[in-house]
Amino acid sequence: MGTRIGIEQLVKVFGNGREAARAVDGIDITIEPGELFFLLGPSGCGKTTLLRMIAGFIDPTEGTIAFDGRDVTHEAPNNRNTGMVFQSYALWPHMTVAQNVGFGLNIRKVTGADKEKRIAEALDAVQMGEYASRKPNQLSGGQQQRVALARAIVIRPDVLLLDEPLSNLDAKLRNDLRLQIREVCKSSGITTVYVTHDQKEALSMADRVALLRDGKIMQVGSPRELYRSPNSRFVAEFLGETNLIRAKAVDSQPDQTTFEIEAGRFATGLKSQTENKQILISVRPEAVRLTEAGGQNSLPAKVLHTTYLGETAQHLVEVKGCDPVKITEMNPFGSSSRVHPSVGDEVGVIFEPGDIVAVADE
Ligand code: ADP
Ligand code: MG
Repeated sequence: MGTRIGIEQLVKVFGNGREAARAVDGIDITIEPGELFFLLGPSGCGKTTLLRMIAGFIDPTEGTIAFDGRDVTHEAPNNRNTGMVFQSYALWPHMTVAQNVGFGLNIRKVTGADKEKRIAEALDAVQMGEYASRKPNQLSGGQQQRVALARAIVIRPDVLLLDEPLSNLDAKLRNDLRLQIREVCKSSGITTVYVTHDQKEALSMADRVALLRDGKIMQVGSPRELYRSPNSRFVAEFLGETNLIRAKAVDSQPDQTTFEIEAGRFATGLKSQTENKQILISVRPEAVRLTEAGGQNSLPAKVLHTTYLGETAQHLVEVKGCDPVKITEMNPFGSSSRVHPSVGDEVGVIFEPGDIVAVADE
């Protein structure tokens, strides 16, 4: 059903001589048939350039792109059968919703009852069936973007490409549309490449994510793999809050290692580490527990700041030998919460051993 996208050693250089910039710098990925694949990264990292090379709007400098093994690297966009959705809805204002969606079918010589049926199906898929005869200016931003999605899928593309499709919408609408778009992509079975700089969008929607920096892939994996097992400081920090701690391995076993910082020693589930070597570890705020001062296996800490947010509380504590440690406490003041810290209190902190990861310092 879906198409496999094979990308090998893809490079795009803009400009030449001293002005030359490698916007995409040697990308290798295979996107599986029917997969909802995300290109995530900060502004300027090359996401749009990569997507536009897949679409055929930008000619790669080096490397290859294949759809189901067919080399399309230098193929014209209209020979690739891709559907595209942009940040700006780009609907034709003088046409109705149905005419907008049907436009791509005219070009493909789909007419009559077949055309009407396909328009209706595409609009139903994005839950816009009842708006078929409206003009775009009679729709909200979210509705316009759903029409843009219908317009992209009505042609039954082999590959669907979306470039920050939710960026112009307000937060509430973005949340609602995430689920809807995922549903449309997954139920259609179309291989989809989705570009965003919003890590929440990627975490909540993607089958897999490639996190990019400076035209290169830093890590590829499922949302859970990237969040729980980041390979580098960049990935750990881009996908949410974390505490980065430089610690020395003092006792290493095949399945656990004790580390040391100025405040003391703590256990981790990290496998065989080089003893007496300092490494960088990452532990998420929700994987740090507060206990009473002197609590078993805890490191001494002092509360610097605390914010009550209802379902969670956020604390900042000083731990000797590292940057102030961020803690997210779930259900603060709940019946199982034993410590109610205020600024200046001496407390203990425990880094959950199984939630500590070693990250490359890059
Ligand atoms: P993103 O979509 O991740 O924000 P882009 O792919 O748009 O990033 O851009 C990547 C880099 O390539 C940026 O430094 C950008 O300035 C540069 N770039 C993009 N398009 C062009 C172009 N047509 N000419 C020159 N430089 C470009
Ligand atoms: Mg972009």
